[in-house]
This record gives sequence, structure tokens and C-alpha cells, in this order.
Amino acid sequence: PEPEPGAAVPQSGDPGLLLLRRVGVVDPESLDDYRSHGGYAALREALRLGPSGVIREVSDSGLVGRGGAAFPTGRKWDATARRPETPRYIVCNADESEPGTFKDRVLMEGDPFSVIEAMTIAGYANGAATGYLYIRGEYPRALSRLENAIARARDRGLLGTDILGSGFDFDIEIRRGAGAYICGEETAIFNSIEGRRGEPRSKPPFPVERGLFNRPTAINNVETLVNVLPIVLMGGPAYARIGTGRSTGPKLFCVSGSVRRPGVYEVPFGATLRELLTLAGGAGPAPLRAVLLGGAAGGFVRADELDIPLTFEGAREAGATLGSGVVLVLDDTVDLAAILVRIAAFFRDESCGQCVPCRVGTVRQEEALQRLSLGTGPRRTDLALLREVGAAMRDASICGLGQTAWNAVESAIDRLGVFGAEETTLKEVR
Ligand code: NAD
Ligand code: SF4
Repeated sequence: PEPEPGAAVPQSGDPGLLLLRRVGVVDPESLDDYRSHGGYAALREALRLGPSGVIREVSDSGLVGRGGAAFPTGRKWDATARRPETPRYIVCNADESEPGTFKDRVLMEGDPFSVIEAMTIAGYANGAATGYLYIRGEYPRALSRLENAIARARDRGLLGTDILGSGFDFDIEIRRGAGAYICGEETAIFNSIEGRRGEPRSKPPFPVERGLFNRPTAINNVETLVNVLPIVLMGGPAYARIGTGRSTGPKLFCVSGSVRRPGVYEVPFGATLRELLTLAGGAGPAPLRAVLLGGAAGGFVRADELDIPLTFEGAREAGATLGSGVVLVLDDTVDLAAILVRIAAFFRDESCGQCVPCRVGTVRQEEALQRLSLGTGPRRTDLALLREVGAAMRDASICGLGQTAWNAVESAIDRLGVFGAEETTLKEVR
């Protein structure tokens, strides 16, 4: 079907897909339609398995977080469920803000009941009676569809008390972000929900121990949660056979830039970058220069490296990361230096300012990149300065924003030679 105005174009409706098969097929406002396409079968199966049975299947599946950091979901749930403190919470991180990432939006807009069903299963497995869905403020369509889905599920006894006669009580509250990228960081989400400034907390303690309201909390990305539905239905070991040994299951990739059919694509882990680009109609119209994999915190893959497998290990070996699934295709007409300045400006803008390496480092990084891109200022000194500032941000920042703010710049210098090969250190320059 034609995408709705403003919506990303998903590769939807293929029954062979596990995550996108209902997107573009079901009426996202209708619980009956969702059920007639297999909806709520996973919750029934989860209630039959029991909380520890669900966690066992999730652990056996090898599922790791799809928000970017790839932490094993089974370990996270097991650690939360074992904590003696109550209440425990679950949080769905729907504050999708990584530049070039729009996969969670497609799931929430096209198949909102699947997010609500998956959160209910997560609540059941983790022993939580309340779940919070923290959604990006700039996703109004997703918000209204989720609000509708929650209301319809409540009407039918799929949220609230004694769900499906099981004795399990669970409900979901939605909280909206207000435009800050940093509020997608998990502990900043907790602060934001609690009514504090949206600033990250130091970890450890991890949320499984002390999360929302200082209680044990399992927080997962939207795509991670939606994976739990097929895992419960097909069983963890069968799911683990999809993909590769260490990157199991399907993955959504957000393909954008110089490509003929940009959109969200679902492929099993292990497909190559070339195969993904072929699904998206191929790069073009101008010749491919590089692909930014993993977003602003990721790295560049060169045009001669398209056969790398899309796995966490494969991306790492290529000097990049899969992150949250960003595949930004750049052709040879693109001004790479200008893109790096844009990325640096983004991090400078979005730094919460709580810690010095990131607050100051992101400003210095942008300034040096501006000078380099314009050809003003001392080139060798600026390259050395970038490395020194980058190392300080990576080693000493409190959260992922500062720790990764230099990744793409470093990758462009080292792998694409964007500012030339000649290098030095600040010490030598002085
Ligand atoms: P992280 O590695 O600190 O943690 C990943 C997850 O594992 C967290 O939930 C954390 O609580 C948990 N965890 C880690 N160690 C644990 C332990 N010992 N015990 C229990 N739980 C543990 O990463 P992060 O800072 O949460 O996330 C960084 C990632 O976020 C980056 O990879 C980036 O790609 C991604 N990101 C995504 C978006 C987006 O829009 N999807 C935006 C910005 C950043
Ligand atoms: Fe804030 Fe940056 Fe420090 Fe993270 S690294 S806490 S965004 S200042």
C-alpha cells in the first residue's frame, strides 16, 4: 500500500518477515484486525510458559538489544526478575532519536498493538505491574496509535487487572519526550519520567538493580520488545537458528541517503551490506563513496567493503558498529567534511553539559572540524587536537553521547582519509 504522508517507506507485508509482516497490512487502529493476524497469541503462550519460562526462551533465543548497545535481553530480564525489591518496572524506550533511525516509528505507526502486547509480556516476565512507554515528542502519529491501542486493550481485558483470567495485573502509561536527544539515554529517561532534568546517571548501578524510582527496571528498545513475540511463539532455540551464531534473529535497517528506495528493511543478521543495498534498489544515481553504518556514533564503510556481513562482529571488524541500524549511503558528490561538521554540531547541541569532557570536547571538536573543512587554521595541529579531544571524550564522559561523539570523525579520518594522511601529535606540534 501507499505509505501515509510523512511516513517512512517500510518493506512491509511479506509473510516471511517476523517484525514487519503486519506493517501496511493490518489496520493499526483495530484490535480485531490485529488479532485476526495472529495478535495476542504470544501473550497467551507467555501466560502458559510462566515468567521464568518466558525468560528462558528469551535467553535461549540469543536476543540482544536493538537500541544500539546489543546487551543480552535474557540476562537483563533475569537480573531484574531476581531482584527482591518491589515494585519493579518495565520501560519501553521509544525515544528514537539517533540521526537516520526511523525503524521504531514504522513499528509503532504500522503495528502499535504488537508493542503493547510485547510490553505486557515483558511486564509478566519481570514481575512488573506498571510499564512506561517513553516516546519521542516528534512522533505524533505513533503516539495517537499507541494511545488508541492501550485504550482498546484495556477495554478487552488485555491490560488492567486479571489479564485473560491469569491473575496478572499490568497497565501502561505513556510519557512524551520534549525534543532532547539525551532523553533517549536510559537513565535520563528515568529522570525525565520522575520529573527531574533529563540528565544521565552514572552506571553502575545498572537499571536492573536501581532504575526508575530507584527500583529494579528492565528497559528495552521498541524493536527489541517486538522480537519477543516471535521468540515466545516459535521458541528461543528456533529463533536462534535465524541469523548467525552470535547475532541471532532478524534486524531492521534504516536505509537512507543516496539510494533508490530508502526505507526500513528487515533482513536476518548475516546478510551482507551489498544485499541490503540491493533490496533498497541500489546506491545511486551518482557512484557510491561510503556508507555510514551505525549513525552519528558509528563508522564509515568504504565502497570496496560492501560484502561485510551485517552482524555485530562483522561491523566491528570493519571498524564500524551496527548501532540502531542506520545505513546512510553517501555518493561521491557529497561533501564529507561538511557532513562531519554537521555531526559535530549535533553532538555539541545535544550534550546535556553535565560533564566537562563532553561539554567542552564537543565544542572544540566542532571548531576544529570547521577550520579543517574551510581550510583556515593549522591543519596538522587541528588533526592532532581532534585526536586528543576525542580520546578524552571517549575515556572520561559519563554516558554514551560523549563516549561516541568522536567515532564517526575518527572513522572518516582513518578510513576515508578525509583530511589527508599526514598525522602528528599535539606534543610534536608544540
Ligand atoms: P550500555 O552498553 O551502557 O548498556 C546497554 C544496556 O545494557 C543498558 O540497558 C544497560 O543498562 C545494560 N547493561 C550493561 N551492562 C550491564 C550489566 N553489567 N548488568 C545489567 N545490565 C547491564 O549502552 P547505552 O549507553 O545504554 O546505549 C548506548 C547505545 O545507544 C549506543 O550503541 C548507540 O548506538 C545507542 N543509541 C541509540 C539511539 C536510538 O535512537 N536508537 C540513540 C542514541 C544512542
Ligand atoms: Fe551529558 Fe555529554 Fe556527560 Fe552524557 S557525556 S552526561 S550527554 S555531558
